Amino acid sequence: MSENNYRVGILSMQGATEEHARHLHDVGHEPILIKNKETLDNVDALIIPGGESTAIWRLMKKNDLIEAIQQFAQRKKPIFGTCAGLVLLGKDQAEAETKDTTKLQLMNIQVQRNGFGRQKDSFEADLDVKGMEEPYPAVFIRAPYIESVGENVEILATYDDKIVAAREDNLLVAAFHPELTDDNRFLDLFLSMVEEKTALPI
Ligand code: GLN
Repeated sequence: MSENNYRVGILSMQGATEEHARHLHDVGHEPILIKNKETLDNVDALIIPGGESTAIWRLMKKNDLIEAIQQFAQRKKPIFGTCAGLVLLGKDQAEAETKDTTKLQLMNIQVQRNGFGRQKDSFEADLDVKGMEEPYPAVFIRAPYIESVGENVEILATYDDKIVAAREDNLLVAAFHPELTDDNRFLDLFLSMVEEKTALPI
């Protein structure tokens, strides 16, 4: 266990797991890799990395993690979804679509997968982020964007008029990859949410 009194897990199905692990390690946390629901019970917060959202979804299903993560979120435990992780935390627009869904239906956002299209497959941009004084260097890779948000969702950043970072209560999402930079401010934001949610009542 790290010096902190909470433990952070990284969903370890497919995608940028190692990069998030290194990023967490750099700020003094020993991440716990989540491969099944038993390990999910041991953590206070979860990061869902980027990768291929349909592949991650299939592996989550195979490992019985869909309901387990939904319950984790309902217990107000913090979850940080980056890129494909943002897609997975989103909601389907119509009930009919939820049958063949690849989304956890947790956050009140509608997502456009691969929203920046082919001409902008990968790019970097300096973003103005709510609450951050200096621009944040964001790395986008076949990134989604958020088309619309429901009540209670706080928009944290936009790029080209598209929403690329947001927060709703215990859920934080970024369309880009904070783990691929050495700028820790997004991770710090998430860890401050974790501290807030896991603080013991006085
Ligand atoms: N395009 C991918 C998806 O929708 C996400 C890409 C990424 O995570 N870098 O699953």
